[in-house]
Order: sequence, then C-alpha cells, then structure tokens
Amino acid sequence: MSYEINEEFLKKLVTTPRATGYEFPAQVVVKTYLENEVDKVEVDNVGNIYAIINPDSPFKIMLAGHIDQIGFQISHIDDNGYLWFHPLGGFDTTTLPGKRVRVISDKGEFLGVIGKKAVHLMKAEERKKAPEMEKLFIDLGCKDKEEALKKVDVGDFAVFDYGYQRLGDNNYAVASGFDDAVGSFIVAEIMKELSKDKSFFAGVYGISTVQEEIGLRGAHIAAEKIKPDIGIAFDVGFAAYAPEMEKKQIGDTKLGGGPIISIGPNFNPVVVKKIFELADKNEIPYQKHAAQRGTGNDANAIQLSGAATALLAIPNRYMHTASEIISLDDVKNIIQLVVAFIKSIKEGDSFLPL
Ligand SMILES: [Zn+2]
Repeated sequence: MSYEINEEFLKKLVTTPRATGYEFPAQVVVKTYLENEVDKVEVDNVGNIYAIINPDSPFKIMLAGHIDQIGFQISHIDDNGYLWFHPLGGFDTTTLPGKRVRVISDKGEFLGVIGKKAVHLMKAEERKKAPEMEKLFIDLGCKDKEEALKKVDVGDFAVFDYGYQRLGDNNYAVASGFDDAVGSFIVAEIMKELSKDKSFFAGVYGISTVQEEIGLRGAHIAAEKIKPDIGIAFDVGFAAYAPEMEKKQIGDTKLGGGPIISIGPNFNPVVVKKIFELADKNEIPYQKHAAQRGTGNDANAIQLSGAATALLAIPNRYMHTASEIISLDDVKNIIQLVVAFIKSIKEGDSFLPL
C-alpha cells in the first residue's frame, strides 16, 4: 500500500482544543472524519470515540491514541480579572511564563497570556528557582472581574495557542500537543486505510482515547469494554540527538528514524517480534526502545485488561512544551507498518508468549 499523509486533517486535529477532560471539540472532528468510512462509530460516557471495522470477528485488535493534550483548568477569577488555574497534566513551569493560550468557554475562544512578575523585580534567590505553578495566572486583557466573567467562568479550560507549522526542510512539523493528537491521527488514518478493503480476519477497534495525561483513564475504560486480544497504543516518544538528551537513558532514537517500538514487561514479545519482522519485510525503518516497567501511557492500561500489548511511538522533541517537533515521515511509516500487521493476522494465530 502507499499512504500519503492527510496533512490538513492532522493540522485540524492538532489545532482543535482538547485539554484533558475537555476533549469533546476534537472528538467531534475524529467522529466526523470516520463515521462514513468504518462499519460503526460509538461514543462512551467519558468521550472515547470507537471506530469499528469487522465487529463480528472473534479476534479483536484495539488501537489507541489519546486525543487529550496537557492544558489548564480555570480555578478562580480575581477582582482584577486575572484567571488562576490548575494544570491538566504535567508541565515544566519554566516553559510557561509569557506563553499565549486560548481560553475556551461556552461564550467562545479568547486569547490569553500567562503572566509573571518581570525578571527585573525578582530577588537573586527567586531567579534560580523554577516559577511556582500557583503564582502563574492568565491575563485576558480585561479591566476587572466583571469583564472577565462575560467571557469565561470557573471550570473552563485553556490550551497553548501556537498553531501548526512546517519546520525546516526535513519533513518536520511543529505544534503544541502533538502529544497525542498525532496518536489519535494515526489511529484514524489506519482505520481509513483498512476501510478501503475489509477482507481481513481481525475486528479492529480504533479508539481516540481521553484523559491519558491524568492517569490513562479513557484507555482503561475502553480496554475493559472491548477486552481486546491485541492492543496497540500510539504515543510520542523521546528523541535523542538533541542537547542533554542522553542515548544511555532514552535509547538511540531520532526524528525521521521510524517509529520507536518498545520492548519489555509491558509488551507481548510475540506481537513485537511480528511487528519487527513485518517492518523488515516491508523495508520500514524502526527504532528499538527498552522500557523496564509498566509505561506511563495507554499501553499500560491496555495490558492490564489482559491484551497482548505493543507501543509504537513517534519520536518527539520538546515534549510537553508549547512547541513539540515530529517528523511526518515517521507518521507515514507507523501507519503503513500497522496496516500491514493487522492484515497479516490469520484465524488461529496465537500470541501466547510460551
Ligand atoms: Zn502522550
């Protein structure tokens, strides 16, 4: 098969607001994209989207990419109209001051800026420390609380506001929250490719999962509901070949080197070996990563439902900052590889490790 990236759809997905627990606008995009392609689309109570092909097959493969991105939840609006927030997911607070955000409410979307006292006014000890999350706030440009309340309220959310752009001349793209819009994109594109010819054995459940960043909550619910035989999670992984990124720690992984495929207790060795074999056969590059325990992503929840599990990741630079970089070549390769894997599954195949 030859697959070409639908870059417009990737751009749409990554730029639609989808903070953890507030994924609904982006899930509508996923649902609309797939509902006329696959056999069935379902939604559950937390907002997971299930796109299903061959629902009557006795052999179930679950694909999971979490649509949520790290973001901010408005916790308080003060008398001067500043918004105070809780983090939704893990941030490095040194990356936050001065960043532009989009605050989303039922009254619309509003540009905001994360504010902080100027460096000139900081004491020597303060300058050495990372800013405390509780001291950061969002400035909407309002004069007072009354004006702010006309736009947003407690419980609304915000995400970085940096769009999608190409970077350099090596098929790289930069956006906020490729972690993990790119995972959800990969699942959607695999489902779209598979729907062109459904004459394969497996039933495939392509899921755009929610709430990964606060404890794999969507994937847990989906895996318990589906009870898949095989589950594959798609996420971003660390790219080496950047300052201070140690190969000794994270492995020899780079942008454009192909999907990062994890090996270790979280993963079924038979599934992983078969993926390696198919990659070699189809001349698709890949990079190995050793993970010594249950991972911090959807693959963990999927394995605990009993599935033979794999994790394929897109190398990513500057993860959980406003500007994450990936290679579109890696995205293309991961989609081709997993379509080949799903089509290779035959009735009677066993993935028991012994
Ligand atoms: Zn992720």
